Amino acid sequence: MQASTHPSRSRAFRLITIAAAGLGSFTLGLWGLQFGFGGDIAGLPAGVIGGVIASLCALAAAGAALSFFAGVDESASYVFNETQVDKLTGLSARVAMIGRVAEAACQTERTGKPVFLVDIDIDRFKQINDAIGYSLGDELIRAFSERLRSLLEADTAIGRIGAGEFAVLLPDRPDGPPLEDILDGLIAKLSEPYPLSSHMQSVNLSVGVVALPKDGLDPVVLLRRSNLAIQHARAGGIGNWAVYQGEMGRVAEYRQWIESELGSAFERGDFDLHYQPQHELTSGRITGYEALIRWHHPERGTIPPMEFIPIAEETGMINPIGEWALRRACHDARLIPDDCSVAVNISPVQFMTRDFVAQVRRVLADTGIRPQRLELEVTETAMMQDRERAAAILRELSEMGISVAVDDFGTGYSNLSYLIDFSFKKLKIDRSFIKRIESDSGTGAVVSTIVGLSRALGVHTIAEGVETEAQATLLKAAGCEAVQGFFYGRPGPLAIEAPDQRRVANGYN
Ligand code: C2E
Ligand code: MG
Ligand code: MG
Repeated sequence: MQASTHPSRSRAFRLITIAAAGLGSFTLGLWGLQFGFGGDIAGLPAGVIGGVIASLCALAAAGAALSFFAGVDESASYVFNETQVDKLTGLSARVAMIGRVAEAACQTERTGKPVFLVDIDIDRFKQINDAIGYSLGDELIRAFSERLRSLLEADTAIGRIGAGEFAVLLPDRPDGPPLEDILDGLIAKLSEPYPLSSHMQSVNLSVGVVALPKDGLDPVVLLRRSNLAIQHARAGGIGNWAVYQGEMGRVAEYRQWIESELGSAFERGDFDLHYQPQHELTSGRITGYEALIRWHHPERGTIPPMEFIPIAEETGMINPIGEWALRRACHDARLIPDDCSVAVNISPVQFMTRDFVAQVRRVLADTGIRPQRLELEVTETAMMQDRERAAAILRELSEMGISVAVDDFGTGYSNLSYLIDFSFKKLKIDRSFIKRIESDSGTGAVVSTIVGLSRALGVHTIAEGVETEAQATLLKAAGCEAVQGFFYGRPGPLAIEAPDQRRVANGYN
């Protein structure tokens, strides 16, 4: 990126200024000498001495003028580079990008041709940075920005506007590919793993789009709106994009409320665990319970986990909340029969924290639960962020005797080869497959394939979200071993009927 030249410092202007400074000093020197000495000095005519001194003055003045301009230019380009260019990536820095958006706004107002501001955010970049260290975090950002640049036309305005956030200005080209295709393509390519010096790093992205002039012309407002669209996209799942809509402001307010409330809710003890039974399909026997967190807010009532877990993950509150849930579930395990396991959901953020295994060890020691009774539910995304570290964590957990189930299996975008490298005990087939199993024969085939795959890998299968008898029958036919869902029992609090005949109530919510 080039510093824009100052019009009053053109080449001709510099020459005129330097010459004028020299001439001025010369005349001043001559005049001073003639005035002071009047006659000869040391045998030389005053005019000659005056001429020599004046020439030296002129040279010094010209040198001073030259160094002044050079200095001004150097500091101008220094200030420019410091504020306008992002040092890590060479892309426009946030201030410069705001300027580019303002330029685009003026242009679109003049021409009437829409421009899209595309805001690309690496999900949980802060946590990734904390987990892999700042130097690898920088490597990731550099690799990401290079890939982003390579995917766009050379003259596209691209800026790094946050730690893991990038903005791109895309003119609406009626003859080009539709915006949806461009966004899908960008997300797919940018989500491919990045080879860093120590490992392959995967990232998930959320993308928000605002249209100029439709969604506004003020760059700061536009960036706020693109951010709202990002939050909306993120709430919709992994690798999503969303175009700004007016009502997103209200959603953002709610999110902000949740963010501000989470800390005090945790201290107040608003959280609770409900348990949902898991049944062996052939015998119907209960083999375990999944712990599902509930937030009972004193004024707003129950807030579903899908509304606050993603926010807790972004703010880091998931670490104390997740540790609390793990500790509480292990503690509650004494209330369920000894041959039943307790399954605890582990957020990707919690899973990748440095001391996760130590945390699990501490909880086991403090609560006295047998490790064989504990099952951790981890999603594919959690394991794909840093495959080597994830594999090491899974190995340690398995050595401790703890089993891991891959939650929401089939919804990730991952390469199945990870299944071979990772030690886990169970695939939990996502509810989206079960929902369609009755109406769509293709889904039945997918479920059978997953069952076949798990057999080949020597791991178990459980289907989640089973709501009807027909679904259960089809799952049995597909060879699925265990089931969980409203048909068998809704999540509910643990209930103890008699001191020595402890059992868990279910079938309510
Ligand atoms: P998940 O782990 O996949 O949990 C299954 C979700 O499906 C639960 O929703 C459960 O109530 C619901 N469900 C179970 N059976 C059925 C059914 O037959 N039909 C339908 N429609 N839904 C069913 P819930 O409790 O709202 O939890 C949602 C998600 O929140 C969980 O998905 C999990 O990802 C997350 N979550 C819940 N508790 C925790 C926790 O303690 N820690 C973390 N990190 N995440 C949690
Ligand atoms: Mg789960
Ligand atoms: Mg699940």
